[in-house]
Amino acid sequence: MRTGKEYLDSIEKMKFSIYIDGGKLDNALEHPAVRAAANAVAATFDFAHDPEIQDKIITKSHFSGEPIPLFQHVPQSVDDLVAKVSITRYCNRRLGMCSFRCIQNSFAPILFITHKIDSEKGTKYHHNFTEWIKYLQKNDFLACPAITDPKGNRRIPAHQQPDPDMYLRVVEKRKDGIVLRGAKLHQTGAVFSHEKLVLPSTTHRKGDEAYAVACAVPGNARGIIHISVRQSQDDRRREGVEIDLGNIKYGVHECVAIFDDVLVPWERVFLCGEVKYVDEVVGLFGASHRPTTGGCKSGWADVLTAAVQLMAEYNGLDKVAHVKDKIADMIAITETMYSCGIAAAVRGFELPHAGYISDPVLANNAKYYASKAVFDLIRLAEDITGGILACCPGEKEMKNPEIAPYLERFLKGVDEVPAEHRVRMVRLIENISWGLGAILHSATHGGGSGQACKMMLYEFSKTQPHREAAIRAAKALAGITV
Ligand SMILES: Cc1cc2nc3c(=O)[nH]c(=O)nc-3n(C[C@H](O)[C@H](O)[C@H](O)COP(=O)(O)OP(=O)(O)OC[C@H]3O[C@@H](n4cnc5c(N)ncnc54)[C@H](O)[C@@H]3O)c2cc1C
Repeated sequence: MRTGKEYLDSIEKMKFSIYIDGGKLDNALEHPAVRAAANAVAATFDFAHDPEIQDKIITKSHFSGEPIPLFQHVPQSVDDLVAKVSITRYCNRRLGMCSFRCIQNSFAPILFITHKIDSEKGTKYHHNFTEWIKYLQKNDFLACPAITDPKGNRRIPAHQQPDPDMYLRVVEKRKDGIVLRGAKLHQTGAVFSHEKLVLPSTTHRKGDEAYAVACAVPGNARGIIHISVRQSQDDRRREGVEIDLGNIKYGVHECVAIFDDVLVPWERVFLCGEVKYVDEVVGLFGASHRPTTGGCKSGWADVLTAAVQLMAEYNGLDKVAHVKDKIADMIAITETMYSCGIAAAVRGFELPHAGYISDPVLANNAKYYASKAVFDLIRLAEDITGGILACCPGEKEMKNPEIAPYLERFLKGVDEVPAEHRVRMVRLIENISWGLGAILHSATHGGGSGQACKMMLYEFSKTQPHREAAIRAAKALAGITV
């Protein structure tokens, strides 16, 4: 298994180019925003070598019997599903942000669907996908999910969009592979992942065959153009400051990825034109992915709550009843997010020819709950932190000898804590809540919008026997006998 340094070296060799800050960089890792995010991933590679946690991270490939990190494993039991939620919480607590290791959530759903398509259509997709997972495991490669299409007018199907490339599509089927054209948006980790897993972002219907495509490509495949997004406060990364970053070690980074006629060899194609199966794979992927939110957001929230608690101490308020009460509320929200993820995992089941996935109703509920709960967490954090969260002078002012003595006096809380510590904590809270590492955006939309989760929750719950039983019970209790 790779160390963090070996991971970074391997990405360095891939020389991802990126359009950023009005120009083009030939090695994306040279940019501080990309580097901060890649450093977060590198830390997760190092966790596999860290005595504190390695026994929980390292597992065995059910294909090869070789040791692999849990992040590359096809879940073989409910325990594996539970471990993924817990490890994600651990990682995000260490990083204070996203740990970028979610590709595993696609394995069981795609193994299941590809087996189904192969059985009905005589294709070789299951073999192809199995080989790709083995390839990731053998090389300890990081892959990122390339799912979100631009979508244009959301009410119009892909093939009726005025611009035919609003959903990524297959423009040519050749002897040696398929050619992809279009774009994927909001791509986390796109310029520091060895591979991209392309999946449809939504349901497709008859007429949308060209858009029904799942496949894998090297992260820097010929024809892919990466355009960096801007994040709130990203100018700070180029100012040579440290305190103002909030999280001085790690960051997140996303890209627009343009697919300008990208050739994908047939052996890396997992679905191509079979629209009938898209609904099911999108739904199962959501069910498999969304419990991770419970671990992901609770790990982040652990750090936010700790930072707020420290801030209360620095303000001399940690023993005050309403502050303790609000911190208890933050803990309760955090543990509820985590419990939702764990519950979905505990109620998981085996998909034939694939692996385990979480309970779809509880999984969508986990993500839906988190998409709202983070706003409550941030409200409580802002309340306890005080107005300084929005009105804190910059690091350069803190270090300007002309005015530093004033700031050292007037930005202090309790006398024994230096103003700089208080300001560092303010910046971390800013970072985690609505700054460079913000929790709220990824909780709202990452992994699908809250509304999308609610819809899936509603649809999947229709198939649950207790819903029908509850209707019978409601009628019986009200005295309706028909
Ligand atoms: C921080 C972050 C990281 C991300 N990382 C990744 C990544 O690594 N890979 C990836 O593929 N994606 C990623 N995403 C994208 C994420 O999955 C999408 O943002 C999410 O699925 C919502 O899609 P959208 O942004 O296009 O918004 P929209 O789909 O436009 O949603 C906006 C609103 O419109 C509603 N809506 C949309 N369509 C309809 C409709 N037809 N009818 C009624 N209502 C509708 C939605 O429910 C929502 O309320 C990331 C997003 C964020 C914020």
